[in-house]
Amino acid sequence: MKKTLNNKKSSQKACGKPALQRTLKSAINCSGTALHSGENVSLTLHPAEPDTGIVFRRSDIGGGNARIPAHWSQISDTRLCTTLSDGGNVSVATVEHLMAALAGCHIDNLVVEIQGGEVPAMDGSAAPFVFLIECAGIAEQNVPRRAIRVLKPVSVSHGESFASLAPAPDSLEAFSLNVEIDFDSNAISRQNYLFHVADDAFKSEISRARTFGFLHEVDDLRAAGLALGGSLDNAVVISGDQVLNEGGLRYRDEFVRHKVLDSLGDLYLAGSPLIGHFHGLRSGHSLNRGLLEALFADDDAWCHSEISDDFPSSGPVAVPSQVKEPALAATA
Ligand SMILES: [Zn+2]
Repeated sequence: MKKTLNNKKSSQKACGKPALQRTLKSAINCSGTALHSGENVSLTLHPAEPDTGIVFRRSDIGGGNARIPAHWSQISDTRLCTTLSDGGNVSVATVEHLMAALAGCHIDNLVVEIQGGEVPAMDGSAAPFVFLIECAGIAEQNVPRRAIRVLKPVSVSHGESFASLAPAPDSLEAFSLNVEIDFDSNAISRQNYLFHVADDAFKSEISRARTFGFLHEVDDLRAAGLALGGSLDNAVVISGDQVLNEGGLRYRDEFVRHKVLDSLGDLYLAGSPLIGHFHGLRSGHSLNRGLLEALFADDDAWCHSEISDDFPSSGPVAVPSQVKEPALAATA
């Protein structure tokens, strides 16, 4: 899967003992409804050898051994969710929430066995996957973790949407995301969230944020064969300026936190954790994919780097000063 990462110089900037690759201690299973197809799907997370990366395996077709690496080059569709494909007929949709949980829990190697074409929605967030990972337990492997260090800014835009990756400030050997959204509905309006991928913060601050959609879009989505499994049990649904879910929101700014979750999951399709800073302005799955393509198209924009065991460090995060970011207010 790491075909784009070979023959590349490494940076050894990380100080301290190298962090080790991680997998699960044992296999663990769940099942649930797929958000878009509406089918019931069984999912099993299997421990994997060092340097395997994250690999999806469709057990229901191809003799049960059809494999798709979790890599941006395998993305075949970004309408409402991120779909990976083997280039033929084998695909797995809606991988981003599971990928976010794996990124947030720092899992490097895993075979994700799935009996169907879409990851189950669970409750629309990454929290059920974090729970599975914690139940299985995390095992360190005797091989250093390898990250992708962003060396110079790259950006992509489409209309009023923008996404960029920039080097991390010297003091921060980690990955941070600054996401801004802007919706007409007063239920959402403008929200901004800056997140530092730190040890425990993903679980408490990001993982429980659910996907969301507008009631008036449901008929169109269903006519397009999407959101067939969507319900108030696995999405925040907005009608006009109102949230329809009985329990309300899990976080006051749950919408932008979910966009952080989506971005973290999509960007983990780099194939390794990133060291750098992401800025997304009204961005989504398509732009996230374009951003990874732009990063890896420029050989001077990235390098491999080991991660020290104090990664990710916690603490306040400043937006890197070298990043020229468009302001939401300026484009709204
Ligand atoms: Zn999402």
